[in-house]
Amino acid sequence: MVQPVPTPPECPFPKRFPSQLVRDDAFFMSLAYNQAIDAWRQDEVPIGCVIERDGEVIALAHNTVEAAHDPTAHAEMLAITQAAAAIGDWRLENCTLYVTKEPCPMCSGATLMSRLKRVCYAVPDPKMGCLGGATNLNDLARVNHRLELTAGGVLEDECRLLLQAFFKLKRAAGEEAASLPAPTPLAKPTPPGPLGPLDSTRGV
Ligand SMILES: [Zn+2]
Repeated sequence: MVQPVPTPPECPFPKRFPSQLVRDDAFFMSLAYNQAIDAWRQDEVPIGCVIERDGEVIALAHNTVEAAHDPTAHAEMLAITQAAAAIGDWRLENCTLYVTKEPCPMCSGATLMSRLKRVCYAVPDPKMGCLGGATNLNDLARVNHRLELTAGGVLEDECRLLLQAFFKLKRAAGEEAASLPAPTPLAKPTPPGPLGPLDSTRGV
């Protein structure tokens, strides 16, 4: 079946252009933010992710759940797979993952299973976040790997604003569509009466 082409609300936020010379948390989170803007432009929930090792980006991805029809296609999952392929090892021991929103249960699990050194997220998620927001998988008593965690505070306002604006504009677009008059259903063909289609009682 042909899917309709998505028409995302126009993204009002520009991409960021951080200096390449200062490879700090804000630098890498800016790249994750730019990925989130790419997600928005494809009508995906604007969440972006970057993985760094030795000051270099080895993976960058954004949410593609809608386009891929895949509930596991979160930015972090895609970036972790990319990073493992880039270094030829599933253990991402010297890597830091930057993501614009706190990882969900699935992605929090993946950050532990991939043995990332550190996770830095911009916006805490008290509803679904599993690295400190709703709960913290990193605190499981018998887990054999601990992440270093930077929970919020790096481009937090910018990343939150991006998410909030996206959902607000999507809701507004949904309400606008709902307020349009419903298309007129096609008239059902009238079964012929005793006199056939020229039934005089209907004045035709
Ligand atoms: Zn996730």
